[in-house]
Amino acid sequence: MDITCTPEEQYLFDLIGATAQEMQMDSYLIGGFVRDKIIGRRTKDADIVCLGDGIDLAHAVAKKLPHRPSVNFFKNFGTAQFKWHGFEVEFVGARKESYRQHSRKPEVTPGTLSDDQLRRDFTINAMAISLNKADYGKLVDPFNGMQDIEDKLIRTPLDPDITFSDDPLRMMRCIRFANQLGFTIVPETFEAIYRNRERIKIVSAERISDELNKIMMTDTPSVGFDLLYRSGLLKEFFHQLTDLVGVEYVDNKGHKDNFYHTLQVVDNVAYRSDNLWLRWAALLHDIGKAPTKRFEKGHGWTFHGHDAVGEKMTSKIFRQLKLPQNEKMKYVAKLVALHLRPISLTKEDITDSAMRRLLFDAGEDLEDLMLLCESDITSKNKQKVKRYLENFELVKKRLKEVEEADKMRNWQPPITGEEIMQLFNLPPSREVGILKTAVREAILDGIIPNEYDAAHAFIIEKAAEMGIKK
Ligand code: ATP
Ligand code: MG
Repeated sequence: MDITCTPEEQYLFDLIGATAQEMQMDSYLIGGFVRDKIIGRRTKDADIVCLGDGIDLAHAVAKKLPHRPSVNFFKNFGTAQFKWHGFEVEFVGARKESYRQHSRKPEVTPGTLSDDQLRRDFTINAMAISLNKADYGKLVDPFNGMQDIEDKLIRTPLDPDITFSDDPLRMMRCIRFANQLGFTIVPETFEAIYRNRERIKIVSAERISDELNKIMMTDTPSVGFDLLYRSGLLKEFFHQLTDLVGVEYVDNKGHKDNFYHTLQVVDNVAYRSDNLWLRWAALLHDIGKAPTKRFEKGHGWTFHGHDAVGEKMTSKIFRQLKLPQNEKMKYVAKLVALHLRPISLTKEDITDSAMRRLLFDAGEDLEDLMLLCESDITSKNKQKVKRYLENFELVKKRLKEVEEADKMRNWQPPITGEEIMQLFNLPPSREVGILKTAVREAILDGIIPNEYDAAHAFIIEKAAEMGIKK
């Protein structure tokens, strides 16, 4: 078996093989590393399976390496791992697994290499390469994964109903690999996902989201999301997204399919940016369209307020999927909330103050917002897309001009809350907030110039109206 390894990898694998033999056990490279080497993808970590104690082997190998790496090990799982020359090596003893109905955690007993390969999720993930003296480098491929790589197919080594029911996370992995590798899931395997879709309920939201994020980071995430939808899995854990599927007609008027439109926007963003959270913003930008959809006589379909509703839904969905509840979520929610604004500026007669307001509201996320909006222009009509994009360029130009003149991006009003408190001898209170907002709004609306004296005069007047004396 010829796979191309770096000199470091070669050195390490030779050492592992020799050390295992000294300890009277066989050892093999297995799983994703073997698959990716054969395909020619970049590899980052290597899994070693041995017929014996994986933790003992890891320690023995680490001891012989220059700059002896420290070994992390997990007695309960019988696994050990260390990092060497920037890549991670994981050791495990070959095992046999048996599953129970309500858990992803199998009962584990020591097994042969063949038992270990049988518990793997896909034929392409079950290939091993021997590190033993007698047949060093030999490929052990009991399920013909090699042929499946050649044919670009994903299939389970066992009856797929058993593989998926045992550990339903494999259904997510199946779709993720299809998307990442550009492979096709064989019909028998794909149909088994549909039959076992409800089993995904025993998988934690964190695990599901891990896979979702991997799908999100592929070149064309639409492929993965479409498979998730068609297999019935998506509805099980993310119904808000499948609620966007479909076209309804009233009085012969239809609207676009918001699910497939959304996927197109995600692909467009993915083409332009590697920012995972910007991709999430694309996925969620129209999420408020299902709950706000109305048919108005004489008007057609409307989705009034879907931006604000979408903003609220974002934090709920992030909680449901156990995605971070921090500034990442706030960033996504903000982009969802603002996604209609740049397009609304393509109309004629837009004032500088509308431009200033967007610059202020978007702040440091303006470029990302513009990228999202540009990606949101999807129509089958090429002329229409071209016209929209041209208008959009004009908006960008004007935003730039207004920004250069007014520096609104990281702008703060010329009078701070502190100053307002001092000026009127007020404690921190609602009044201070009201005054602060009033000055900011007056400047953004162009009622007063963005200067200290004007702001000062304005605030005195406003305070007097509220019955606050200096
Ligand atoms: P990647 O690292 O790109 O996610 P991978 O195939 O290396 O892909 P890992 O999660 O690193 O995936 O797992 C390594 C190997 O362990 C897999 O190739 C597969 O053989 C096996 N494996 C991992 N998770 C499962 C699972 N849930 N069920 C069965 N086998 C699994
Ligand atoms: Mg891996």
